[in-house]
Amino acid sequence: MNDQHVTRKTFDEVMVPCFSPAPFVPVRGLGSRVWDSEGRDYIDFAGGIAVTALGHANPELLRVLNEQGGKLWHIGNGYTNEPVLRLAQKLEALTFANRAFFANSGAEANEAALKLARRAAFERFGEDKFEIISFEQSFHGRTFFTVSVGGQPKYSEGFGPVPAGIRHLPYNDIEAARAAIGPKTCAVIVEPVQGEGGVIPADPAFLRALREACDAHGALLIFDEVQTGVGRTGHFYAYQDTGVTPDILTSAKSLGNGFPIGVMLTTEPIAAHFQPGVHGTTYGGNPLAAAIAGKVVDLVSDPAVLAGVRQRGERIRARLGELHERFDVFREVRGKGLLIGAELTSRHAGRAKDFLAAAANRGVMMLIAGPDVLRFAPSLIIPEADLAEGLARLEQAFEDVLGR
Ligand SMILES: *Cc1c(COP(=O)(O)O)cnc(C)c1O
Repeated sequence: MNDQHVTRKTFDEVMVPCFSPAPFVPVRGLGSRVWDSEGRDYIDFAGGIAVTALGHANPELLRVLNEQGGKLWHIGNGYTNEPVLRLAQKLEALTFANRAFFANSGAEANEAALKLARRAAFERFGEDKFEIISFEQSFHGRTFFTVSVGGQPKYSEGFGPVPAGIRHLPYNDIEAARAAIGPKTCAVIVEPVQGEGGVIPADPAFLRALREACDAHGALLIFDEVQTGVGRTGHFYAYQDTGVTPDILTSAKSLGNGFPIGVMLTTEPIAAHFQPGVHGTTYGGNPLAAAIAGKVVDLVSDPAVLAGVRQRGERIRARLGELHERFDVFREVRGKGLLIGAELTSRHAGRAKDFLAAAANRGVMMLIAGPDVLRFAPSLIIPEADLAEGLARLEQAFEDVLGR
């Protein structure tokens, strides 16, 4: 069968409708530019949802993809492989961790983290210590366990009984956390910056309070760094700028620059609760994904790249500040590094989607985080010229939505 002509309309005819993609169809990318099937170009401030940290068609990643692609793609976890061992060494050299479990996505990394925490509590303390504490508006993935742990009920309702032993507390509320974390708590899972929930940074004092309460009650602290990890906040992992070290850290999104990979990082005594057969995966840790991620880690961990993330973040925030001066449109601009959220004033409540559509019309791809927040997660190395061009186009989009 020859390839048929396909358009955005084809989506509605052949795909499960759990997404409603934009009206145009991207076909090619280079760095921070993307072209659609009509030849129109876009500046990419979305980064494939905080994923393409080193841009599209990055030449160094392409070289690794081709090299490893010609050697070995997949061998299964009945064998280990060199790229995955090197990747684990690199991640462990950069973090608190000395054990790694690889998966294919953020949800799977979190699924592993939550199962490990349950298992460790079961084996150390017995069957009554199973409670998982999570936070309102948090997002941890779409498997049934992770979506139930996530703090957005609209994503977990209507699928039958949810797994028991999960509690949701208000984010950044130290008193509520101190009151809730107790002898039954097996783990607390938290995003250092809530991403999908509206780009809301955790208060460092809140994270410290979680650490103390977990230590006092033998609970494990899990940082979900699926969105914040691998340079996004201007630090290799966001925890490194908080003064708080978790027991388990999950990472995905930017780790593979678009090649699917996720990881759960932890320490040896905790890892020891996953003995052979207790958990597993077919594709996780495959040599192709691991080789690419290894190169991503090499490139992003460069201090100059991380400093560049902080500078670019400042630049975008300053420009959003100017847009606010002109249009009086934001309640708050927040975030860290190149994970930036701009919350609309109540006058424009619910209109984030209109800005997204207007930006696309003007040739900018961006994101939203809920109905009221514009979200930016561009490549960590977006060139100055593309940043400037994208911000100029964004201003035109604001004119389209708000009038001059
Ligand atoms: C995106 C995201 C996930 C889910 O990752 P998938 O790769 O889509 O499964 C989990 N946690 C956070 C914080 C995320 O941003």
